[in-house]
Amino acid sequence: MTKAEAPAADGGIADPTTEAFWAACRERRLVVQRCRACGHHQFYPRPLCLSCESTDLDWVEARGGGEIYSITTVCVSVTDELPPPYQLAIVALDEGPRLLTNIEGDHATIGDRVAVGWRERPPLPPLPIFRRVARRA
Ligand code: ZN
Repeated sequence: MTKAEAPAADGGIADPTTEAFWAACRERRLVVQRCRACGHHQFYPRPLCLSCESTDLDWVEARGGGEIYSITTVCVSVTDELPPPYQLAIVALDEGPRLLTNIEGDHATIGDRVAVGWRERPPLPPLPIFRRVARRA
């Protein structure tokens, strides 16, 4: 087994592009990439900046707040770990990047403020999920 084929922290195949993200998740820290050349924040992890194509990327901790950009309720069973119905959303983080995630707790809608939480799934790293903290203004 080569290093590229070794099991990754997320249970998939080891990927140096996402390794720091999963390591931070184990510490229940939500991190996004920030370009050292132009300051652009991005998620999901990529090997280069989407704004200026620099490969000089760093990881910064997101504050964990955001707003629901898009949301739907899934009523079809996809996995036993996530019984329907559940809310699947795109959250716009305060830092700018958008993240595909689940909304747990109260029913939420577009524009609601949310805060990051964590779904435990040992032995894999916890997954960042979000909970509504305020209704759309
Ligand atoms: Zn850049």
